Formats: sequence, structure tokens, C-alpha cells
Amino acid sequence: MVRKATPYGVKLIRGPFLDLPPHEHHAADVGEFKRLTKSLRGRGAHLAADLFSGAGGISLGLEEAGYDVVLGADHYEAAVRTHAHHFAGLSLDWDLADADVVERVAGLIKEARVEIIAGGPPCQPFSKAGRSMIRHRVQLGERDPHDERRDLWRSFLEIVGSARPRAVLMENVPDLALDREMFIFRSIVEELEQDGYSVHTRIVETWRYGVPQMRQRLLVVALRDGVAFEWPADAPTKTTLWNAIGELPEVEGGWRPEGGAEGWADYDGPVTEYQQRMRRGVAGADAHKVFDHITRPVREDDRAAFETMTHKTKYSDLAPEHQRYRNDIFDDKYKRLDENDLSRTITAHIAKDGYWYIHPRQPRTLTVREAARIQSFPDYFRFSGPPSAAFKQIGNAVPPLVAETVGKSIRSALAAGRSMPFNTREISARMATWYRGRGVDDLALPWFRSGSRWVFVASEILLARASRTVTRSFFPAIAALDVPRGSLPADDALAILKNMAEGVGRSTRADQLGELAGQMADAPDALWSPTIDRTALPTIPASIADLAELAVPTTDENGLESEEPILTGKGILRVASRFLGNDVDKRNKLTDGRLAVARLVGIGEESRDAQLGLIELAASVCTIDQPRCSMCPLSDHCAYANDKRDEPTSLF
Ligand code: SF4
Repeated sequence: MVRKATPYGVKLIRGPFLDLPPHEHHAADVGEFKRLTKSLRGRGAHLAADLFSGAGGISLGLEEAGYDVVLGADHYEAAVRTHAHHFAGLSLDWDLADADVVERVAGLIKEARVEIIAGGPPCQPFSKAGRSMIRHRVQLGERDPHDERRDLWRSFLEIVGSARPRAVLMENVPDLALDREMFIFRSIVEELEQDGYSVHTRIVETWRYGVPQMRQRLLVVALRDGVAFEWPADAPTKTTLWNAIGELPEVEGGWRPEGGAEGWADYDGPVTEYQQRMRRGVAGADAHKVFDHITRPVREDDRAAFETMTHKTKYSDLAPEHQRYRNDIFDDKYKRLDENDLSRTITAHIAKDGYWYIHPRQPRTLTVREAARIQSFPDYFRFSGPPSAAFKQIGNAVPPLVAETVGKSIRSALAAGRSMPFNTREISARMATWYRGRGVDDLALPWFRSGSRWVFVASEILLARASRTVTRSFFPAIAALDVPRGSLPADDALAILKNMAEGVGRSTRADQLGELAGQMADAPDALWSPTIDRTALPTIPASIADLAELAVPTTDENGLESEEPILTGKGILRVASRFLGNDVDKRNKLTDGRLAVARLVGIGEESRDAQLGLIELAASVCTIDQPRCSMCPLSDHCAYANDKRDEPTSLF
């Protein structure tokens, strides 16, 4: 028999399997669930449901914030068993892509009168056709057909829309919001607003809420009836890795305690505040024990390599005898953590390979308990299944400390009950109406209304940053020399434009147009396809191609339309930052900046015009030196106009 080599090159020591019994108030069926929730409500409890709960990171945080979690759902057996052990009520191993399941879960949550629905639905990328169909449904407020398998974020929103809890907390990876069109993010905001929620969105560095780890997450808080919300303040200090795990006893890689899953390592007690927090809830009899402090065995050659490493060592820095992999491909293969800094992000990858998580002082990878601590799971919180399943549950979890911190702010906001002065739909509609109401002669950028890809691109190339006088005298000539879809610019038209451009010192730009005409001859459809072919038309800068797709959308023979990218030019970010009273025009433009623009334009029927309106506003009204706020459609809610710049604000 041929034995399969293990990836570690050492004998694998099977980890102990932890079998956790259900919670004492676990509901075995719907009847028990109803009795439990009724009794909790009778005692004035605030109930919570956690969808895509995994082991229960959000559940634990919400309980710490004062909620009683009565329902969790996931489709990973080990995680559901962990959830069932730690939390009362139902822990369901159900597939939330199934329409019937969605309906049943929504019914249970509604009947239980749950106050908050939380969760982090996994999001798959979309095809353009899929996006276009969903967008259509979102705009019309339509539900998905019953026989269709749900995308999980749609299931989440459907349950929210049906159960209508007072609060929603949604967590996801920032990538969800950072694709070119920000499609899922904008759709989520639109649907929640359609359902009457105020929506508050932020990309959070979780260390700001006390988690000893680099971990960025997108958080969405939605409060029913348009209630206002303030994001929690940052923690006063950063919790370093050593603050979090430094007092845990030394162990060898591969070490296993006596007693299998119930075995422990001896423990001397917490030192730092964070460690004390991690020990809260540990039973008195276990005060000198730490469970799950076990990790993988370490190959002798890896141990030798680990011993030569500091947190700065790259794989390619290792001595040749310590490199088992190609260092040009695996430059990031090993990572020794820095004890004086945050840990790198704990992901589910830790279940497969611990090399990214080498202990800062000991020649081994992190133990299950250390990984749990870095995710802010306290020491009493144990995970069902073998160590690999525990690592996976930990890596996939939302840090409980994040859910606790935000959960407390949600409770305060609900108690205060202040109203949000506006929402994305209103701002978007206002911007779009203002934009459409301006005559072409009033526009600083009249080619935005040309309806012609050629006129748009030619004007952007010839007239970018031109004075108003030059624009006014020049633009009518460009518009008159339009090139119909699928045609090429005529030589004499190009000659006229060149002649005019020379008159205002812009002949180089006119030469660019000549170049572009040559490229168009080789690729006749490139300018007119819904997505401009940037490879075939390299003369068009990417920023102009993006703008052209936004301002002059086209449709191809299969009915696919141009995307509606979220743009973050200087002007639009200036408006967003003045309006919201923050500095997205200077910092984190591609994350917070894009989020801010998306929140101003939405994804409804008005969103394209709203974004064009923001660009026009930046060019004509909200100018760099002299914003003319009295002429601005946003002035009544604008932080800058109302002299609130630099005050902490949380409009979205
Ligand atoms: S009110 Fe003034 S500062 Fe605010 S967006 Fe409008 S022009 Fe700019």
C-alpha cells in the first residue's frame, strides 16, 4: 500500500475530538423554542438571532452586550454543535440558500419577536447578467422567485424584510464593498432603506475595538424606523499579541495533554487586562487549567528554521538549507508573529497550515487557544470537533469583541431613538433632480449630457481643466462633429478640431484624438461596447473610460448594459468629504472614499444621474476655493455648510 505523504513531513498526531453537549436551555424543537422565547420576553429580555453564525462569535458578543441569543443557523455541523453548546434556543444546521428554509427561519424569528438579526452571509462573485437581474429586482423591490436558490446575502435580507427586527448587524469582508460597481454593497443599502431602515456602514479595523489583530471588516448596522446611530469610539490603546497570549504556558508543537479533549496545560493566571478578560467565565475548578493549548507537531527542519527567524524574516531570507519551497513563489510562506504588534489576520487557512502563525518566542505554530484569544474568544469558549475543525471555526468567526462593542452602541441608539435626518435614497434623488434640472448651457461639463461616446471622450481629452470660456467656445464645435456609433471620425473633422485646439494651446491633446482615431479603425466596436476596450484604445486614460461608461452607457446585442462604476476622482471626494464632515478626500480614498460616494448615490434608478450630479457639483458649485453653498442642493444637511467639519459625525 502506498502511503500518502503528510504536508508536514512528520507523523500526524490526531488531535482529541471534543464532543460538547447542548446548552441547558437548548431547544430541541420549535415548541421548546417558543416556550423559551416567551419566557425570556416575559422577563424583559432583548432577543437576538445569528444567521451564518459559525461557532457564535457574533452571538457571544451580542450576549456580552446584553442580548439573549435564541437562534443560530449555519450549515457546518461542527460549528452548529459549538453554537448549540454555548447558546440557548435553536442552533440549526440548515441551508439558508433554500427558499423554504428562509421562510421557516423568518417565521421563527418573527414569532419570537427578535430585536436584532445579525450575521455575516458569505458572498459569491456575480456574473454581469446575474447582477443586472438582481439589480432590476432590487430597484423594483421585488422578491426572488420561490424556486430559485438564494445568494446568501439575499436570504439574509429576505429574512430581515420579513421579520422586520428593530436592528440588523451585518458583517463581511471589505471586498464585498470594493468591487468596481460596489454592486452588493449598494444593493444591501437600497433594500434596507426600502424596508424603512436607517443604514450605517463602515470598514472597521478590528484592533480599534480592542482585538489584537490586523483584521478589516465591513460592518453594516441598520435600525428600523430611521433611527440614528453613532459608531463606538476607538479603544484607548492597541492590544498587542503579547498582551493577549504572553502568559500562556510554553508548549511543544505536537504536545498532547493527558486526558484527551478534557486534558489541559497548567496555568499560572492572567497578567494583563486583556488576559483577565479572557479568563472571565472560566469555572473556579479550572482556574489553573488552560484547555485546547495544543498545536501541530513541528518538523525538525522547520523547527531549525523557526529558531533563526524574527518577525522581520522573509522566507527568502532563510538559509538555503531551511528553504523547502521555491522562494520566488513562496516569499510569504512562513511568518513569525511580532509580539509587540498586532497578529496577522486569523483566517480559516490556519486550519490547513500554521506557517503564517509562528509563535513569537517558541519554535512552533499557534495553539488553538492562542488563535481563539487573538479572535477575542474567552478561554471557557471551546469548539466542537477535532483541532482542525476548531481552527476553522475560529478563523471564520467574527471577533466577539467587535460584536459586543457595536452591539452596545446599537442598544444605546435604540434607547435614544433619535431620527436620521436623511438617507441615501433621498440624497441620491435630490442630486439626480438637481443635475437633470440644469440646462446644458449651465453645466461646467456639458459633454456629460451629449449622449455620444465620441463627443464625451473627445471633450474630456480636449477640454479637461479648460476655463469656462474655452469650454463654451469649443464644446459646440466638438458636439457638431459627432461620430455615430460604429463609425470613425472623418479626417476633415479631426483637422478642424486640431486647428481649433492649436488656437488655445491644446494641440498635443488634438494629436491624441488623431491617435485614438487610428486605434478605432483597428477596433471598430471598442469605443461603443458597454465596457470600453481599454487594450484596443490605449489612448483613452482609464479614468476617462470609466467616466464615459457612467455618463454614456451603452447596451450590447445580448442586452448587457454598461456598468455603473463608483468613481473617486478628486472633485467627487471633495464633495463627499465636505458633506459628510470627514477626510475621505485625503485618507483611505479607495475604501472609505468609495463607501462615501456609494452612500451618496445609491443604486436606484436615480443613481447614475446622482453620481454625474456630484461630479458636476464639484466642477461648478463645490469648487476647491469657494464652495457656493447657497446654490447647492445638499446644503441643508452638509456638515461643511453647517460648520460642523471636524466634529465627530456619523451620518452614515
Ligand atoms: S453645501 Fe457647500 S460645502 Fe456642502 S457640498 Fe454643497 S457646496 Fe459643497
